Amino acid sequence: MRKPNIAIIGGGCAGLSAAVALVDKGYDVTVFEASPHLGGRARTVLVEHNSLMNLLDNGQHILLGAYRETLALLRTVGIAENEAFLRLPLHIRMRSSADKPEFLLKSEHLLPAPFNLLFGLFGCEGLTLTERASAIKFMAQLKLAGYQVAEDGFLGAYLTDKKQSRKLIELLWEPLCLAALNTPIAVASTRIFLNVLRDTFTGSKKNSDFLLPKADLSKFLANPLAQHIQAKGGTVLLNQQVRKIAANHSEFIVSTKENNTQFSHVIVATSPSNIAKLLSNFNQLNHVLSQTEAFGYQPIYTIYIQYPADIELPNIMTGFTNKLSQWAFDRGQLCGQKGLVAVVLSGTGAHQQLSHDELALKVANELHQTFHHLPKPLWHKVIAEKRATFSCVPNLARPTHKTNHPNLFLAGDYTYAPYPSTIEGAVRSGNACAKLVEKSN
Ligand SMILES: Cc1cc2nc3c(=O)[nH]c(=O)nc-3n(C[C@H](O)[C@H](O)[C@H](O)COP(=O)(O)OP(=O)(O)OC[C@H]3O[C@@H](n4cnc5c(N)ncnc54)[C@H](O)[C@@H]3O)c2cc1C
Repeated sequence: MRKPNIAIIGGGCAGLSAAVALVDKGYDVTVFEASPHLGGRARTVLVEHNSLMNLLDNGQHILLGAYRETLALLRTVGIAENEAFLRLPLHIRMRSSADKPEFLLKSEHLLPAPFNLLFGLFGCEGLTLTERASAIKFMAQLKLAGYQVAEDGFLGAYLTDKKQSRKLIELLWEPLCLAALNTPIAVASTRIFLNVLRDTFTGSKKNSDFLLPKADLSKFLANPLAQHIQAKGGTVLLNQQVRKIAANHSEFIVSTKENNTQFSHVIVATSPSNIAKLLSNFNQLNHVLSQTEAFGYQPIYTIYIQYPADIELPNIMTGFTNKLSQWAFDRGQLCGQKGLVAVVLSGTGAHQQLSHDELALKVANELHQTFHHLPKPLWHKVIAEKRATFSCVPNLARPTHKTNHPNLFLAGDYTYAPYPSTIEGAVRSGNACAKLVEKSN
């Protein structure tokens, strides 16, 4: 029998993690990436301003301490966590104006989970005693129920049913839902949100830490993964869009513009919106296509605003209420990009109707209302990812990693059913597909 060789289509977190797992087991792996860069939706782009090149991420990413497979993957490829990330114990600071924060929640790091959060909720600023008590009671009930619901439904309605006040939802649950699921709370899946809460607030208290990348994403994610794959004998091809996959007896022919290559296994690791054409030769996978065709998508806009190099925000990460801007990150304090602020806007809204210049101006004005010391910005860059994540709505039918065509597998954040669209979901899906390849031999 011929030695197995595996085509991985897509060089995002899912495809690269599958490739790392497989080269480490000695498999012959080829990654096909359509674009000139790796990383997919977690990539770095080069932006020129006044002949100076700036490395900007396509979006400010946040990881959680609970992202155990991502952190393990980075360890495998030699990335030390403290070099790559700033680890911040759960700390949510929301402002609507220049005055003191409207809401401040700090987890108590000396206590084990979930008491670190419960204690934090007890002492948080911005909520009445009754609201704090109902948040604590709710978390305690969730823990007792194992963070499970009998039936999935809309998160907003579920929280109201659980006596969470409008303010509590607005200041705590809604920002958490947008950050974790990138889906409006009114239509977000309760089950998936509770899965994230479970992984974040059970086990080690470090699971609820925020991990903020200390440099551009490619430096700690796509590049070291690709180097590891190549060092172990794998092949990573850029600018190689796969146009067609065809079954040929028990093998596959993977076709790009220039080549047709034979493989024993294929892992399709593209985003859900890209699989229809790739799977069009496989009638028995029509159900996968009808599932992905039913997906909705949510945008994320990142507005980079450059101030003079000596300008800093009071905190590395600030949340906003009653504003278009949702979160602001001081990239100077975070990754040495002095004076650069990244503002994140998740989900759909009126901002999508604005031109990039109008949006940047509006966001800069909002920043100025909150932080009076900010001068006129020097330049801005808006990166709009229209299909940043799939909409994580209740009871979404999601394809499985295993298809009913032998040796053809699906990876990608959308295939890891317990999670929303995240790096961790993508990495877990890649690892799961690598295991399926091993099992098939
Ligand atoms: C702005 C933004 C902010 C985000 N913030 C966070 C965050 O804070 N935390 C978090 O965990 N997650 C976040 N996410 C989500 C996270 O980035 C994604 O869930 C994850 O990167 C998805 O990885 P993937 O490998 O499944 O898919 P993708 O990253 O989409 O990778 C698919 C790859 O396949 C390639 N491809 C497509 N078609 C072909 C073809 N025919 N041939 C060859 N290659 C092909 C694409 O070019 C792409 O590189 C964010 C996403 C965005 C866009």
